Amino acid sequence: MHSFSDIYGNALLLRHLQQAVAGGRVSHAYLLTGSAGSGKRLIADTFAKTLQCEAGGTEPCGHCKSCSAFNSGNHPDIVYVRPTKKTLGVDDVREQILEDVSLKQYRYCYKIYIVEQADTMTVQAQNALLKTLEEPPAYAVFLLLAENQTAFLPTILSRTVLLHIRPLPDTMVADYLEKKKGLSPAESAVYAAYAQGSIGQALDLLEDESFQQMRQEILEKLMALPQAKKERSFCGQRIWKNIKTICVFWI
Ligand SMILES: [Zn+2]
Repeated sequence: MHSFSDIYGNALLLRHLQQAVAGGRVSHAYLLTGSAGSGKRLIADTFAKTLQCEAGGTEPCGHCKSCSAFNSGNHPDIVYVRPTKKTLGVDDVREQILEDVSLKQYRYCYKIYIVEQADTMTVQAQNALLKTLEEPPAYAVFLLLAENQTAFLPTILSRTVLLHIRPLPDTMVADYLEKKKGLSPAESAVYAAYAQGSIGQALDLLEDESFQQMRQEILEKLMALPQAKKERSFCGQRIWKNIKTICVFWI
């Protein structure tokens, strides 16, 4: 649970974070961008857990006090910041970050703020955060998670290390579904084809009843195709048969 070696894809990005830990060159602010379900939160969590781990390695050890606190969901020095409304407003930034960041960490190396949906930050909120990003306390690390990099002011971007999470190849998503979720190769290929390179989206589709229903409806329509064969030429029938065979495999 939460180790860099278990994360699929984006090897260069992960190596960059691990080398920062190993070399003691951790920046005060990172902006992790990627589509929904691309693994922003997983990567941020793994990085935060590694930074706080008392074993001091490039992976979380999983059993020190810090790792245990993280696993219980109550790590005192990892703070999750979320919008309380549709956007991350200036009040959210003030109450969840600015009023807290001046208090030193409880007992671990860093005080880490994982800011979810950071691209919903209003301009006013970004300006409120800017001063802290310019002169952060030595112990503070900010991990901003966002889908859209263009939502940020240039002044914020210039203060953060920009890391973009790339979509995975379909074969990698399918491999995950086979190995971690026990799907058959054919089923894994179907979900991977619809997941747009995102394991998170593939997992959402697995839980999505409307997607299952859509698959079933298309399948039923395809199965009904031979009923119209009398109206088609021999050549047309062969084409439709081939289309049906391909679609039944993929849907
Ligand atoms: Zn540990």
